Order: sequence, then C-alpha cells, then structure tokens
Amino acid sequence: MYDLVIIGAGPAGLTAAYELRDSNKKVLVLDKKNQVGGLAETKVFGKYRYDIGPHRFFTKNKEVYDLFLEILGDDAVEVNRKTRILFKNSYFDYPLTPVNALFGLGVIESILTGFSYIFARIKSYLKFSKINNFEDWVVDKFGKKLFNNFFKNYTEKVWGIDCSEIGSDWAAQRIKGLSLSTAIKFALFPNSKKRPKTLVDKFYYPKLGAGMLWEKFEDSISKNEIEVRKESKVSSVELKEDVFNLTVENSNAALSTIKAKNIFFSNPLLEFINIYKTDIPSEVVSAANSLNYRNHISVHITIDKKLFDDNWIYIHSPDLKMARIADFTNFSEFMSNENTYPLTLEYFCFENDELWTTDNKNLIEFALSELMTIFEEEFNVVHSAVTRNPKAYPVIKTGYEEHIKIIKNWLETLPNITAIGRSGMFKYNNQDHAMATGLYAARNYLGLGNYDPWEVNVDGEYHEEISGD
Ligand SMILES: Cc1cc2nc3c(=O)[nH]c(=O)nc-3n(C[C@H](O)[C@H](O)[C@H](O)COP(=O)(O)OP(=O)(O)OC[C@H]3O[C@@H](n4cnc5c(N)ncnc54)[C@H](O)[C@@H]3O)c2cc1C
Repeated sequence: MYDLVIIGAGPAGLTAAYELRDSNKKVLVLDKKNQVGGLAETKVFGKYRYDIGPHRFFTKNKEVYDLFLEILGDDAVEVNRKTRILFKNSYFDYPLTPVNALFGLGVIESILTGFSYIFARIKSYLKFSKINNFEDWVVDKFGKKLFNNFFKNYTEKVWGIDCSEIGSDWAAQRIKGLSLSTAIKFALFPNSKKRPKTLVDKFYYPKLGAGMLWEKFEDSISKNEIEVRKESKVSSVELKEDVFNLTVENSNAALSTIKAKNIFFSNPLLEFINIYKTDIPSEVVSAANSLNYRNHISVHITIDKKLFDDNWIYIHSPDLKMARIADFTNFSEFMSNENTYPLTLEYFCFENDELWTTDNKNLIEFALSELMTIFEEEFNVVHSAVTRNPKAYPVIKTGYEEHIKIIKNWLETLPNITAIGRSGMFKYNNQDHAMATGLYAARNYLGLGNYDPWEVNVDGEYHEEISGD
C-alpha cells in the first residue's frame, strides 16, 4: 500500500515527488508514456532531438526558479530571446511594439490602423463600448484593425473557437494595454522609449532540450527511492473502505492493481472524472463533460540549412494552418551535433478534426509544403517524425470557470485527492505554475502549510502580447 500515488510524471507530478523525497512516505509516480516530462518532454529519435513545441522557462516565483537552477546546474544555457510574428509576408516583433504594429503594414493600412485605434479609444472613453468577450476587449483597447491583424488569426488557430467565445477576463489578465498617449509618443518619437529589458528577453534552457530538466528530476527522485514507473496508464480509480484501488495498464495491456491512501492527479481533469468509479454528483459529471481540450500536433523536421535565427516564429497568416515554428539550435547549440537544424512545426486541432487522424507521412508532407511556402528556399530533409499531444490546451471558452467551480467544490469534499498541474486543474499553466502546484500540494500533504494550488497563476502576469512601454 502506498501513502501516495501521483498520476503523471510531468512537471507537476515530478516536482511534488521531489518535495516528498525525504519525507519517509511511500510514494509512487505513474506515467502512461515511456518518458518523463509530460508536455515539456524532449523527444529523442536516435541522434535527433526536438521539444514538442518551444519551451521557454520563465517564472516570477523565486522558489521555483531556484529549484530549476538547482536541478539543472551547469546544464542550463542562457538564451537571448528572439521571437517574431509572420503576417502578410512580413515579420513583426514579438512582443508587439506599438511602432511595429501600427506602422509595419504599409502606408494605407497603417493610417487605417491608426484611425481604427483612435476611434476605439474615443469610443471607450465615452463609455460606448460593450465588453463581453476577448474580441470586445482587444478591439476596445487596440481597435478593430489591430485585432484583425494581430490577435484574431493566431488566437483562433490555437483555441479553435471564435474570439467572441473567449472570456474578456482572459485577455485582461494577459494583454498589456496601450494608452493613447503612449501610442502618440511612439508615433512622434519612435525611439523615445524602448521596451525595458526584462527577464522576458533572456531565459534559461536545459542544454539538451526542455525535457532534460525533467529527466534530471527523475534521476534525483529515483536516488531518493521514489519510484517513477513509466508505461503505466491509470485506467480506473475506485475508493473502497478509505483505500484507493488504481487499475494500471502497462505497455502490454496487462492490468495490475495498486492501492494508495492518497492521490495527486495531473492527467486531464475530464479524464480523471471519467476513470473515477466512485459516486460522482451528476452536476460534476455534466460540468466535466462541458470542458473541452485542444489537441496539438508537433511535426519534427531536421534540415541541412538554417532558415531563421528566431527561437520561434508565430505564423499569423490565415492561409497557413501552421501556428508556430521553432528551431532548437537557436535555443541551444547542443540540440544538434552536426550542421543540421531540428525544427518543430506546430498544429492545433480537435480530436474529430481531419488533421488529427491524418497519418504521419501525409502530415509531414503537408508541413513541409507549408515550410516551403514560408521560406521559398532549397534544403534537404535529414529526419522527420510526428508527435501527437492529446488534450494539450484546456479551452478557455466563456463560462468554463463556472464548470471548474463546480468540480473544484466537489474535489474539496475529497481530502485525499488533489488536482495538480495544467490539464489536471484545467488551467493554462506553464511549467513553473505546474511546478508550484505540485510543490504546494506536497507541502499541504505533509502538513507543512495551508497552500492553495488553485491560486497559482490567477493573474497570468507575464503572458505579454503587446507591449506599450
Ligand atoms: C506546445 C506547448 C508549448 C509550451 N510552451 C511552454 C513554455 O514556453 N514555457 C513553459 O513554461 N511551459 C510551456 N508549456 C506548458 C508546459 O508544457 C506545461 O505547463 C507542463 O508540461 C504541465 O505540466 P503537468 O505536469 O501539469 O502536465 P503534463 O506535462 O501534461 O504531464 C501530465 C503527465 O500525465 C501523464 N498521464 C496522462 N494520463 C495518464 C494516465 N491515465 N495514467 C498515467 N499517466 C498519465 C502524461 O503522460 C503526462 O506525462 C507549453 C505547452 C505546450 C503544449
């Protein structure tokens, strides 16, 4: 019998296990995959390495930051961030700067963008704007033109729903506003005030890929006699006489039962509710069934030519399905040991979309055709592969918070079950947030405090989209 079973060896689960390493508790971490790191894993195909998408580690939580550096030691490399947006065959700075956004689209479009912006600000000042959703919020702050050019396409590629179906709170937490006075100042004196250099301009990266951090966590946890059991999918959880019985399926589909007194879960919330076989109130089931996740496809292609020096490029162009492209040699030279360049091209879709069921060969051909449309250059492909990441993004459709509240209230009645991480809490959490939830859950479990993991990442404070100062 285990004191605690942690479902998922991603950042949340491994950080929780790490915090429990000296606790004398009998802890087991289970993951269905054959590798740790969850969505932050690094895929290794022989000598080719790729992250499933660009992973920049950044946090304002000092404790989490110290932990990151403690585990990585000399394996952390410092990266100067360069990211741009591709739109209408032109590149724009990311985070967007006012000068670039207002004036980068040619004279006529820039004038129209300027007018649309001034119109929106006056409307807002006179309190004529109604703000019900993400689109309303962005149009109110930046004008319809900027919204159409720099927010709509990419946001809809990622989330798969119309911007009018995304809550305005989500925008307010993540997008920095741009005051009319700042915009005018930039227009008249474009070089008067540069975006201040912050931690966002530089970040640390594990030299062999984002997943290296999690492999090192695994080593450290295992040395402390906490087992991380891979290829172990939890397919049901049942509570019998105060003991959880977990049915676990290995890679040969053989089933075994594991008993535990407590559970932390970081697998998708909807999935956990589906596999939890003990009485669940019907309103919780229907709240869970209202949640939707977005799937993510990574097409990995290594080529023999450097196409760009950005860490990644956002593809806003609506005629391309691709959402982002990253070259991992622009993160760390150790990501390639020859003159080859490992790229990940990212696509988002729902489970029933054609893209999700397209076979790997056709996906790679399609991604390559989009790559050639963007760069129009000759290169040779030396390796390619596909990774499919189901339920990678919790869809933040208007009203989802109400469903989460119902589920959260129910979870609070179950003191021996704790939701942690990104998919587990249905939150748009990054690695550092996922780590903090694992850390706090572990401390609560040990009686070392009264933390609220749900309070992590409530302000989304560093998700910049446009920078006004
Ligand atoms: C494309 C993309 C780009 C990102 N970029 C960044 C970035 O730049 N910076 C950043 O900090 N974060 C980034 N993130 C977010 C980051 O990857 C996540 O925040 C982090 O991985 C969440 O950790 P987690 O442990 O909560 O969940 P996950 O990483 O999802 O791990 C959950 C684990 O649970 C396992 N699991 C699921 N079901 C079961 C089951 N039934 N039984 C056993 N195991 C199961 C899974 O295999 C997985 O390993 C990005 C995410 C994506 C998808």
